[in-house]
Amino acid sequence: MTTNSLNQAVSADLRERHAAAFMPNYGVPPVALVRGEGAYVWDQAGTRYLDLIAGIAVSSLGHGHPALAEAVSRQVSTIAHTSNLFVNEPEVLLAERLLGLLGAPGKVFLANSGTEANECALKLVLKYGRATGRGYIVAAENGFHGRTLGALSLTGKASIRDQFGPFPVDVRFVPYGDADALKQAVTGECSAVFLEPTQGEAGVVPPPAGYMRTAREICDATGALLVLDEIQSAIGRTGHWFAHQHDGIVPDVLTLAKGLGGGMPIGACVGFGDAGTLFAKGDHGSTFGGNPVSSAAALAVLDTIDRDGLLARARACGELLAGGVAAVDHPLISGVRGRGLWLAAVLTAPVAAQVQDAAQRAGFLVNAVQPDAVRLAPPLIVTEDQIGSFVAALPAILAEVTP
Ligand SMILES: *Cc1c(COP(=O)(O)O)cnc(C)c1O
Repeated sequence: MTTNSLNQAVSADLRERHAAAFMPNYGVPPVALVRGEGAYVWDQAGTRYLDLIAGIAVSSLGHGHPALAEAVSRQVSTIAHTSNLFVNEPEVLLAERLLGLLGAPGKVFLANSGTEANECALKLVLKYGRATGRGYIVAAENGFHGRTLGALSLTGKASIRDQFGPFPVDVRFVPYGDADALKQAVTGECSAVFLEPTQGEAGVVPPPAGYMRTAREICDATGALLVLDEIQSAIGRTGHWFAHQHDGIVPDVLTLAKGLGGGMPIGACVGFGDAGTLFAKGDHGSTFGGNPVSSAAALAVLDTIDRDGLLARARACGELLAGGVAAVDHPLISGVRGRGLWLAAVLTAPVAAQVQDAAQRAGFLVNAVQPDAVRLAPPLIVTEDQIGSFVAALPAILAEVTP
C-alpha cells in the first residue's frame, strides 16, 4: 500500500467504528489524530499537519509540551483527585494566579468546561436578580455560550437552540455590536448582560471599537451585571491575557475555559467585587472542579506563556498571519477579522468547508467556522516559519476550491 491509501484505509476503519459507536451529533470527523509535537500533529498513517486550529483554541502550548506533560504527570502520580471536601494546593495557586493576572479583587469558582463556567455565572446572576428584584437577561444574537440548558438559553443561535426550548431563564437577544440596541434593551429590570468580547463561534467577529466600554457604562448606569464570556478569547489568544484588557474595562463576572488547561479539561468563573461573594455555602459545586491535575496543567500553561513571552509571540505571529492572508491576491479572499492568533479569513463565497478540506490535503488543519469564514487559531507556540509555510501554501489551496 502507498502511504496515502494506507492513510485512507486506517482512517476509514476508525471512522466506521466511530460512526457505529457514537451518537451522530458530531458527524464523523475526517481524520484520526494519533500524536502531536509543537504545532504539528500526525494522523494514523504518519501524515503530518500544521495545526492552525489547536483543538478549537484549546491547545495553547501546542502538543506534547514538556512543561504540561511534566506538570500533569507529576500531579497525577502525587494526588489526582481530592474532591471539594478537601483543599488541594494547585487549585489555590491557580485561583491566586488568575486573580493576580486579572488585577482586580475577585473570587474564583473552578469547573471542568466552558458551559459549566457559564452555568456558574448564570446562577450568580439568578441570585443577584432575586436579591435585587431584577428579572430578564440580555445576550447577543449569534453568541455562543455552551450546550447545557442554562448556557444554551444564553446562546443566540436558532439552529442549535430552538428545538430544546422552552428555557429556564428569560433571555432577550440584541444584535451584537449595536450599542443603541443594547442601551434600549437594558433597563433597571435587567439582571445581567452576557457578551463575548469577540464572537468566536459566530466566525471570530469583533464588535465596533468602543462597544465593550459602552456595555460597561450601560451596566453601571442600570445596575445590571456585565458577564464576559472569555472562554475562547482569553489566555493569550488575542495577545493579551484577557481580551477585555484591550478595552480597559473590568466585568462583574468573567468565564474562562478552552486555552486555560492547554488540553486538560477546566473552566473557571470569576466574580469581581460583590459578585464574587453572591454564593453562600452550598449554593454551587462540582465533584471534579478544582481537581489538582487540571489545576496543575493550567498553572503550567500560565507559567509557560509568561516565561516564554507567548503574549508577544501571539501578537507578532498574529500580525504576520493576518497580514499574510490579507495579502494573498485571490478573488475568494475578502479580508481578515480578529486579533492576535485568533483570526478568520473571510471569503467572498460560502466555500469555507472546501477550503478546510483542501488545506487538510495540503497538510494544514483549519476550521470552517462559518460557511464564508475559515477560523485560524494556532497554538501560541507557533513559529514565524510555520505561519510563513501556510501563507505560502494558501494560493494553491484556494486554487483547489470551486465557488
Ligand atoms: C467553547 C465555548 C463555550 C463552551 O465551552 P465548552 O467547554 O464546549 O462547554 C462557551 N462560550 C464560548 C465563547 C466558547 O467559545
